[in-house]
Amino acid sequence: MGCAILSQGTCDVMEPGYVALYHSGELERRAQFLEARLASCDICPRECLVNRLENEPGYCHSGRLAIVSAVCAHQGEEPAISGARGSGAVFFGNCNMRCVYCQNYQISQNWKKQKSKVMDCHTLARRMLCLQNELGCHNINFVSPSHFVPQLVRAVLEAVPMGLQVPLVYNTNGYDSIASLKELNGIISIYLPDLRYASDNWAKKFSGASDYVARVRQAIREMYQQVGDLVVDEDGLAQKGLIVRHLILPNGLAGSEESLTWLVRELSPTVTLSMMSQYMPMHRALRIAMLSRTISVHEYETVLQLLADLGVENGWVQEMGAAEDYLPDFEREGHPFLPRPERTEEHIPFQDAGANINSPYNLV
Ligand code: SF4
Repeated sequence: MGCAILSQGTCDVMEPGYVALYHSGELERRAQFLEARLASCDICPRECLVNRLENEPGYCHSGRLAIVSAVCAHQGEEPAISGARGSGAVFFGNCNMRCVYCQNYQISQNWKKQKSKVMDCHTLARRMLCLQNELGCHNINFVSPSHFVPQLVRAVLEAVPMGLQVPLVYNTNGYDSIASLKELNGIISIYLPDLRYASDNWAKKFSGASDYVARVRQAIREMYQQVGDLVVDEDGLAQKGLIVRHLILPNGLAGSEESLTWLVRELSPTVTLSMMSQYMPMHRALRIAMLSRTISVHEYETVLQLLADLGVENGWVQEMGAAEDYLPDFEREGHPFLPRPERTEEHIPFQDAGANINSPYNLV
């Protein structure tokens, strides 16, 4: 899917900022600074203040070393992230949230089993090089990295002299510490945060994060300040910028109207959005009435109309009915995602989605 369908800026391929930070010594300084914070951990907004250098468990049940549950070329991300050869996904284990519907619950909320997935930073660096050189991935995509920022930076530091040169994607639930994000300035090229809720009540009830709304909005502001609007190369591949994901939940639980209005009116009208319709009642959500179904056509079309009313132009929307295609199985041998040859048709650019609903997206 080429960049002609997007309204973002285009550029020649850029050298990621972490290369210059490596050569100036700044990357080493940041790795050391972040690692020191593990002694009284405040790496994410939970601020547990446990000593992770001694493997004392905090809310995320994660110690000194990273937990890496899967490493693979991922074809199912947004077209600008996955491209033709896939995004080099590094799925970190455990999490600093507890979403009752988490589709990655096998690795995010099963910390006893994840203990066997501990990985030192040098090994992680070698796996990143494998994604870049052997699988030809367009980027390294750190999935659920909020509780492993120090280990991520150390792995990048190890990987640069090995030849790492692709952009880094920070693929997060958005419940991130501003202090940690500031240490990533210039290291991360593409921020890919969720914007899950507009209500702290629902965030507390369904994800265990009672201060989520303020935290995620501050985090997205910081990310946008660092990287700005999405910039793609001539093949339509993301080189730099912010893409905000919004998962539509049933019964209006995601607060789509409030969240998207905030995003467009208070952050930027040019922000790139990825609207996700893939919600499936997984994990504990099957036993919660308000979350026990997929979204309806009416809920989907209401959000599309909202995007039209807000004048959003940049991004993609998942087509309805694709929910099951996006489900991973981290206990399957080999790749957690099944091959999906029709992938590129599942993310529809806003302009094309607009053609179906007679909205201002119809700009082509
Ligand atoms: S990263 Fe883990 S231990 Fe540290 S503050 Fe967050 S939840 Fe607590």
